[in-house]
Amino acid sequence: MTAIAVLGSTNMDLVAYVARAPGRGETVTGREFRTVPGGKGANQAVAAARAGGEVVMIGAVGTDEYGSLLRTNLEHAGVDTELLHTVAGPSGTAHIVVDDEGANAIVVIPGANGSVTALGPGGQAAVAAAGLLLLQLELPMAAVTEAARTAKTHGVRTILTPSPVQPLPSGLLDAVDLLIPNEHEAAALTGYEEPHAAAQILLREVPEVVITLGRKGCLYAARGSEPVLFPAPEVTAVDTTGAGDTFVGTLAVALGEGRAVPEAVAWASSAAALCVQRPGASTSMPYRSEIGAA
Ligand code: ATP
Repeated sequence: MTAIAVLGSTNMDLVAYVARAPGRGETVTGREFRTVPGGKGANQAVAAARAGGEVVMIGAVGTDEYGSLLRTNLEHAGVDTELLHTVAGPSGTAHIVVDDEGANAIVVIPGANGSVTALGPGGQAAVAAAGLLLLQLELPMAAVTEAARTAKTHGVRTILTPSPVQPLPSGLLDAVDLLIPNEHEAAALTGYEEPHAAAQILLREVPEVVITLGRKGCLYAARGSEPVLFPAPEVTAVDTTGAGDTFVGTLAVALGEGRAVPEAVAWASSAAALCVQRPGASTSMPYRSEIGAA
Protein backbone atom coordinates (compact mmCIF):
# COMPACT_ATOMS: atom_id res chain seq x y z
CA MET A 1 0.00 0.00 0.00
CA THR A 2 1.23 3.50 -0.83
CA ALA A 3 1.63 5.73 2.20
CA ILE A 4 -0.13 9.08 2.10
CA ALA A 5 1.60 11.97 3.86
CA VAL A 6 -0.67 14.85 4.89
CA LEU A 7 0.93 18.16 5.84
CA GLY A 8 -1.82 20.29 7.25
CA SER A 9 -3.87 21.84 9.99
CA THR A 10 -5.49 20.28 13.02
CA ASN A 11 -8.17 22.45 14.62
CA MET A 12 -10.87 22.10 17.20
CA ASP A 13 -14.09 23.46 15.69
CA LEU A 14 -16.19 25.26 18.30
CA VAL A 15 -19.61 25.50 16.72
CA ALA A 16 -22.49 27.66 18.02
CA TYR A 17 -25.93 27.15 16.45
CA VAL A 18 -28.11 30.27 16.51
CA ALA A 19 -31.33 31.43 14.84
CA ARG A 20 -29.57 34.57 13.66
CA ALA A 21 -25.89 35.51 13.94
CA PRO A 22 -25.21 38.53 16.18
CA GLY A 23 -24.33 41.88 14.62
CA ARG A 24 -21.44 44.02 15.85
CA GLY A 25 -21.76 44.74 19.58
CA GLU A 26 -24.81 42.48 19.88
CA THR A 27 -25.35 39.42 22.10
CA VAL A 28 -27.74 36.66 21.09
CA THR A 29 -28.71 33.45 22.87
CA GLY A 30 -27.82 30.38 20.84
CA ARG A 31 -29.50 26.99 20.71
CA GLU A 32 -26.65 24.50 20.84
CA PHE A 33 -22.85 24.23 21.10
CA ARG A 34 -20.67 21.46 19.71
CA THR A 35 -16.94 20.76 19.89
CA VAL A 36 -15.87 18.90 16.74
CA PRO A 37 -12.35 17.87 15.62
CA GLY A 38 -11.54 19.62 12.33
CA GLY A 39 -8.89 21.40 10.29
CA LYS A 40 -8.58 20.63 6.59
CA GLY A 41 -5.37 18.62 7.04
CA ALA A 42 -6.75 16.42 9.80
CA ASN A 43 -10.06 16.00 7.97
CA GLN A 44 -8.33 14.80 4.79
CA ALA A 45 -6.15 12.46 6.89
CA VAL A 46 -9.21 10.94 8.59
CA ALA A 47 -11.04 10.56 5.27
CA ALA A 48 -8.05 8.80 3.70
CA ALA A 49 -7.54 6.50 6.69
CA ARG A 50 -11.23 5.54 6.80
CA ALA A 51 -11.08 4.81 3.07
CA GLY A 52 -8.28 2.32 3.77
CA GLY A 53 -5.18 4.45 3.29
CA GLU A 54 -1.97 4.24 5.31
CA VAL A 55 -1.73 7.85 6.47
CA VAL A 56 0.98 9.91 8.18
CA MET A 57 -0.07 13.31 9.57
CA ILE A 58 2.55 16.08 9.73
CA GLY A 59 1.58 19.16 11.73
CA ALA A 60 1.21 20.43 15.28
CA VAL A 61 -1.22 20.62 18.17
CA GLY A 62 -0.91 22.63 21.37
CA THR A 63 -0.41 21.66 24.99
CA ASP A 64 -4.03 22.46 25.85
CA GLU A 65 -6.76 19.89 26.36
CA TYR A 66 -7.80 20.18 22.70
CA GLY A 67 -4.34 19.02 21.63
CA SER A 68 -4.69 15.59 23.19
CA LEU A 69 -8.32 15.26 21.98
CA LEU A 70 -7.27 16.10 18.41
CA ARG A 71 -4.39 13.62 18.52
CA THR A 72 -6.62 10.88 19.91
CA ASN A 73 -9.22 11.55 17.21
CA LEU A 74 -6.62 11.03 14.49
CA GLU A 75 -5.21 7.92 16.13
CA HIS A 76 -8.70 6.52 16.52
CA ALA A 77 -9.09 6.80 12.74
CA GLY A 78 -5.82 4.91 12.29
CA VAL A 79 -3.64 7.91 11.34
CA ASP A 80 0.06 7.81 12.30
CA THR A 81 0.62 10.88 14.54
CA GLU A 82 4.33 10.50 15.28
CA LEU A 83 5.03 13.68 13.26
CA LEU A 84 2.12 15.61 14.78
CA HIS A 85 4.23 17.68 17.14
CA THR A 86 3.00 19.07 20.45
CA VAL A 87 4.11 22.68 20.87
CA ALA A 88 3.69 24.96 23.90
CA GLY A 89 0.52 27.03 23.72
CA PRO A 90 -3.00 26.55 22.38
CA SER A 91 -4.10 24.25 19.56
CA GLY A 92 -5.70 25.71 16.44
CA THR A 93 -9.36 26.57 16.87
CA ALA A 94 -12.16 27.52 14.50
CA HIS A 95 -14.97 29.55 16.05
CA ILE A 96 -18.04 28.91 13.93
CA VAL A 97 -21.50 30.46 14.14
CA VAL A 98 -24.14 28.60 12.10
CA ASP A 99 -27.54 30.26 11.65
CA ASP A 100 -30.93 28.72 10.88
CA GLU A 101 -30.42 29.24 7.16
CA GLY A 102 -27.25 27.12 7.34
CA ALA A 103 -25.02 30.13 6.63
CA ASN A 104 -21.87 30.33 8.73
CA ALA A 105 -19.33 32.89 9.93
CA ILE A 106 -15.93 31.55 10.98
CA VAL A 107 -12.91 32.90 12.85
CA VAL A 108 -9.84 30.64 12.68
CA ILE A 109 -7.06 31.08 15.24
CA PRO A 110 -4.08 29.08 13.90
CA GLY A 111 -2.52 28.40 17.35
CA ALA A 112 -0.07 25.51 17.05
CA ASN A 113 -0.61 25.28 13.27
CA GLY A 114 1.16 28.64 12.96
CA SER A 115 4.34 27.13 14.39
CA VAL A 116 4.74 24.76 11.43
CA THR A 117 7.01 26.98 9.35
CA ALA A 118 9.29 24.16 8.17
CA LEU A 119 9.03 20.40 7.63
CA GLY A 120 11.92 19.38 9.88
CA PRO A 121 14.03 16.26 9.27
CA GLY A 122 11.24 13.84 10.22
CA GLY A 123 8.74 15.57 7.94
CA GLN A 124 11.18 15.63 5.05
CA ALA A 125 11.87 11.92 5.42
CA ALA A 126 8.14 11.12 5.61
CA VAL A 127 7.35 13.14 2.48
CA ALA A 128 10.28 11.62 0.58
CA ALA A 129 9.15 8.10 1.50
CA ALA A 130 5.45 8.66 0.76
CA GLY A 131 3.62 7.62 -2.37
CA LEU A 132 1.41 10.69 -2.27
CA LEU A 133 1.41 14.07 -0.52
CA LEU A 134 -1.75 15.98 0.42
CA LEU A 135 -1.48 19.74 1.00
CA GLN A 136 -3.93 22.53 1.83
CA LEU A 137 -3.26 26.17 2.76
CA GLU A 138 -4.07 26.32 6.49
CA LEU A 139 -0.37 26.12 7.50
CA PRO A 140 2.34 28.74 6.84
CA MET A 141 3.12 28.90 3.11
CA ALA A 142 6.85 28.28 3.72
CA ALA A 143 6.16 24.77 5.05
CA VAL A 144 3.60 23.99 2.34
CA THR A 145 6.04 25.04 -0.40
CA GLU A 146 8.93 23.14 1.20
CA ALA A 147 6.81 19.98 1.34
CA ALA A 148 5.77 20.29 -2.30
CA ARG A 149 9.37 20.86 -3.42
CA THR A 150 10.63 17.92 -1.33
CA ALA A 151 7.96 15.73 -2.91
CA LYS A 152 8.94 16.86 -6.40
CA THR A 153 12.61 16.08 -5.73
CA HIS A 154 11.66 12.54 -4.72
CA GLY A 155 9.06 11.94 -7.44
CA VAL A 156 6.14 11.95 -4.97
CA ARG A 157 2.78 12.92 -6.49
CA THR A 158 1.39 16.07 -4.83
CA ILE A 159 -2.28 17.05 -4.51
CA LEU A 160 -3.09 20.59 -3.37
CA THR A 161 -6.44 21.86 -2.07
CA PRO A 162 -6.06 25.66 -2.41
CA SER A 163 -8.11 26.53 0.68
CA PRO A 164 -8.33 29.12 2.17
CA VAL A 165 -7.85 30.56 -1.29
CA GLN A 166 -4.92 32.95 -1.74
CA PRO A 167 -2.34 33.75 -4.42
CA LEU A 168 -0.17 30.70 -5.06
CA PRO A 169 3.60 31.22 -5.38
CA SER A 170 5.08 29.69 -8.54
CA GLY A 171 7.56 27.73 -6.42
CA LEU A 172 4.56 25.86 -5.02
CA LEU A 173 2.52 25.47 -8.21
CA ASP A 174 5.56 24.13 -10.11
CA ALA A 175 5.60 21.16 -7.76
CA VAL A 176 1.86 20.38 -7.75
CA ASP A 177 0.62 17.45 -9.86
CA LEU A 178 -3.11 17.71 -9.17
CA LEU A 179 -4.94 20.84 -7.99
CA ILE A 180 -8.40 20.38 -6.42
CA PRO A 181 -10.20 23.71 -5.90
CA ASN A 182 -13.94 24.01 -5.37
CA GLU A 183 -15.74 26.20 -7.90
CA HIS A 184 -15.39 29.35 -5.77
CA GLU A 185 -11.67 28.82 -5.29
CA ALA A 186 -11.22 28.10 -9.00
CA ALA A 187 -13.00 31.36 -9.85
CA ALA A 188 -10.95 33.32 -7.31
CA LEU A 189 -7.67 31.89 -8.66
CA THR A 190 -8.47 32.52 -12.33
CA GLY A 191 -11.12 35.26 -12.54
CA TYR A 192 -13.39 32.84 -14.47
CA GLU A 193 -16.67 31.66 -12.94
CA GLU A 194 -17.23 29.06 -15.64
CA PRO A 195 -15.40 25.86 -14.58
CA HIS A 196 -14.21 24.84 -18.08
CA ALA A 197 -12.66 28.28 -18.58
CA ALA A 198 -11.13 28.25 -15.09
CA ALA A 199 -9.71 24.76 -15.70
CA GLN A 200 -8.00 25.88 -18.91
CA ILE A 201 -6.27 28.70 -17.02
CA LEU A 202 -5.20 26.41 -14.18
CA LEU A 203 -3.79 23.85 -16.64
CA ARG A 204 -1.18 26.45 -17.62
CA GLU A 205 0.28 25.95 -14.13
CA VAL A 206 -0.43 22.31 -13.20
CA PRO A 207 -0.84 19.14 -15.31
CA GLU A 208 -4.18 18.01 -13.83
CA VAL A 209 -7.13 19.77 -12.18
CA VAL A 210 -10.33 18.60 -10.51
CA ILE A 211 -12.81 21.42 -9.83
CA THR A 212 -15.44 20.24 -7.35
CA LEU A 213 -18.93 21.57 -8.04
CA GLY A 214 -20.93 20.56 -4.95
CA ARG A 215 -24.07 18.57 -5.82
CA LYS A 216 -23.28 19.04 -9.53
CA GLY A 217 -20.23 16.76 -9.15
CA CYS A 218 -16.81 17.73 -10.46
CA LEU A 219 -14.90 18.62 -13.60
CA TYR A 220 -11.67 16.74 -14.34
CA ALA A 221 -9.24 18.35 -16.76
CA ALA A 222 -5.78 17.26 -17.86
CA ARG A 223 -3.39 18.85 -20.30
CA GLY A 224 -3.88 17.58 -23.82
CA SER A 225 -7.32 15.98 -23.34
CA GLU A 226 -10.98 17.06 -23.23
CA PRO A 227 -12.30 17.95 -19.74
CA VAL A 228 -14.77 15.41 -18.32
CA LEU A 229 -17.74 16.23 -16.08
CA PHE A 230 -18.47 13.63 -13.40
CA PRO A 231 -22.02 14.13 -12.08
CA ALA A 232 -22.42 13.51 -8.33
CA PRO A 233 -24.80 10.75 -7.21
CA GLU A 234 -28.26 12.23 -6.53
CA VAL A 235 -28.78 12.11 -2.79
CA THR A 236 -30.57 14.10 -0.10
CA ALA A 237 -27.91 16.22 1.58
CA VAL A 238 -28.33 16.98 5.28
CA ASP A 239 -24.89 18.52 5.97
CA THR A 240 -22.23 19.13 3.31
CA THR A 241 -19.48 19.99 5.84
CA GLY A 242 -16.45 17.86 5.11
CA ALA A 243 -17.60 16.78 1.64
CA GLY A 244 -14.60 18.39 -0.02
CA ASP A 245 -12.11 16.81 2.40
CA THR A 246 -13.80 13.42 2.06
CA PHE A 247 -13.52 13.72 -1.71
CA VAL A 248 -9.79 14.55 -1.59
CA GLY A 249 -8.84 11.98 1.05
CA THR A 250 -10.68 9.16 -0.71
CA LEU A 251 -9.34 10.18 -4.13
CA ALA A 252 -5.80 10.02 -2.74
CA VAL A 253 -6.34 6.45 -1.54
CA ALA A 254 -7.60 5.33 -4.95
CA LEU A 255 -4.75 7.05 -6.78
CA GLY A 256 -2.27 5.54 -4.33
CA GLU A 257 -3.63 2.11 -5.25
CA GLY A 258 -2.73 2.85 -8.85
CA ARG A 259 -6.25 3.54 -10.14
CA ALA A 260 -6.66 5.88 -13.09
CA VAL A 261 -8.02 9.34 -12.30
CA PRO A 262 -11.53 8.79 -13.78
CA GLU A 263 -12.05 5.62 -11.74
CA ALA A 264 -10.63 7.28 -8.63
CA VAL A 265 -12.89 10.33 -9.11
CA ALA A 266 -15.97 8.13 -9.39
CA TRP A 267 -15.06 6.38 -6.13
CA ALA A 268 -14.34 9.67 -4.34
CA SER A 269 -17.69 11.06 -5.57
CA SER A 270 -19.56 8.15 -4.06
CA ALA A 271 -17.69 8.63 -0.76
CA ALA A 272 -18.48 12.37 -0.69
CA ALA A 273 -22.14 11.64 -1.49
CA LEU A 274 -22.28 9.37 1.59
CA CYS A 275 -20.68 12.12 3.71
CA VAL A 276 -23.32 14.73 2.82
CA GLN A 277 -26.15 12.44 3.86
CA ARG A 278 -24.96 12.44 7.50
CA PRO A 279 -24.41 15.32 9.96
CA GLY A 280 -20.91 16.46 11.01
CA ALA A 281 -17.54 16.65 9.26
CA SER A 282 -15.01 13.97 10.28
CA THR A 283 -17.80 12.00 11.97
CA SER A 284 -19.69 11.66 8.68
CA MET A 285 -16.78 10.39 6.58
CA PRO A 286 -17.43 6.90 5.27
CA TYR A 287 -15.38 3.74 5.88
CA ARG A 288 -14.04 1.76 2.93
CA SER A 289 -16.61 -1.00 3.41
CA GLU A 290 -19.41 1.56 2.95
CA ILE A 291 -18.07 3.23 -0.18
CA GLY A 292 -18.65 0.37 -2.58
CA ALA A 293 -16.48 -1.00 -5.34
CA ALA A 294 -13.94 1.37 -6.87
P1 ATP B 1 -17.12 21.57 1.88
O1 ATP B 1 -16.42 22.89 2.11
O2 ATP B 1 -18.60 21.59 2.10
O3 ATP B 1 -16.45 20.41 2.53
P2 ATP B 1 -16.17 22.00 -0.79
O4 ATP B 1 -16.73 23.36 -1.04
O5 ATP B 1 -14.71 21.86 -0.55
O6 ATP B 1 -16.99 21.26 0.32
P3 ATP B 1 -17.85 20.83 -2.83
O7 ATP B 1 -17.59 21.15 -4.25
O8 ATP B 1 -19.01 21.49 -2.18
O9 ATP B 1 -16.50 21.05 -2.04
O10 ATP B 1 -18.08 19.24 -2.68
C1 ATP B 1 -17.04 18.31 -2.91
C2 ATP B 1 -17.63 17.06 -3.53
O11 ATP B 1 -18.58 16.50 -2.63
C3 ATP B 1 -18.38 17.30 -4.82
O12 ATP B 1 -17.52 17.28 -5.96
C4 ATP B 1 -19.35 16.12 -4.82
O13 ATP B 1 -18.69 14.94 -5.29
C5 ATP B 1 -19.67 15.94 -3.34
N1 ATP B 1 -20.90 16.64 -2.96
C6 ATP B 1 -21.01 17.86 -2.38
N2 ATP B 1 -22.31 18.19 -2.19
C7 ATP B 1 -23.04 17.15 -2.65
C8 ATP B 1 -24.44 16.87 -2.75
N3 ATP B 1 -25.38 17.74 -2.31
N4 ATP B 1 -24.82 15.68 -3.28
C9 ATP B 1 -23.91 14.79 -3.72
N5 ATP B 1 -22.56 14.99 -3.66
C10 ATP B 1 -22.14 16.16 -3.15
